[in-house]
Amino acid sequence: MSTPNHRIRLLMELRASGITDTEVLSAIERVPREVFTTPQFRDQAYENTALPIGHGQTLSQPTVVALMSQAIAPNKRLKVLEIGTGSGYQTAILARLFRRVYTIERYKPLLAEAEARFKELRLHNITAKLGDGWAGWPEQAPFERIIVTAAPPEIPDALLRQLSPDGIMVLPVGSEKRTQKLIKVTMTPQGYVTEDIAPVRFVPMVEGLPPESNGA
Ligand code: SAH
Repeated sequence: MSTPNHRIRLLMELRASGITDTEVLSAIERVPREVFTTPQFRDQAYENTALPIGHGQTLSQPTVVALMSQAIAPNKRLKVLEIGTGSGYQTAILARLFRRVYTIERYKPLLAEAEARFKELRLHNITAKLGDGWAGWPEQAPFERIIVTAAPPEIPDALLRQLSPDGIMVLPVGSEKRTQKLIKVTMTPQGYVTEDIAPVRFVPMVEGLPPESNGA
């Protein structure tokens, strides 16, 4: 289960893989990942692997969560938009690193479970909604930071439009079958610049809501 040793081993692995941001490491140390897994995978909560969470979706690998959190230069004065709440693990990490987190999920049951976890952990600076992340969250825009945890085939225009003038977005881009790239997008007065960070593998960012989420 979650002994301190498991957590320490995971933190050592993260450091070895290039995670140097002490705020990110401390957030990973403090958020109990076992709360975000399904019961049958609880004993693997501190393994550095992705874990299934139902509906064909996965709780992201800790290295990837840490890498993405570090890439958006966390700051407690800023607000961040997350697309793909999933289990809510990445959301909970962001809640410790930012002033406020807005998060969008297209599966109603996953959203409900994630919201229950935020309540249990008393994370009060998270606003979550059911929706299609392709549209972003125009009512709350602009966002200083955006993080996408499902892979679109290209950078969604709506998200670029909702990024602040000097904002940073990190997202996996590419189709499911080919290797996807984790990309960092930085907004500048001349337009945006992109930088490849690492090869990754995420579930696809799907358009629209699944049938069971409509009016259910
Ligand atoms: N950060 C999450 C990752 C979950 S997997 C975690 O660590 O648990 C990616 C999530 O993105 C899935 O829950 C999936 O349902 C969601 N997703 C995919 N396409 C989406 C879209 N268009 N809008 C909102 N959420 C989407």
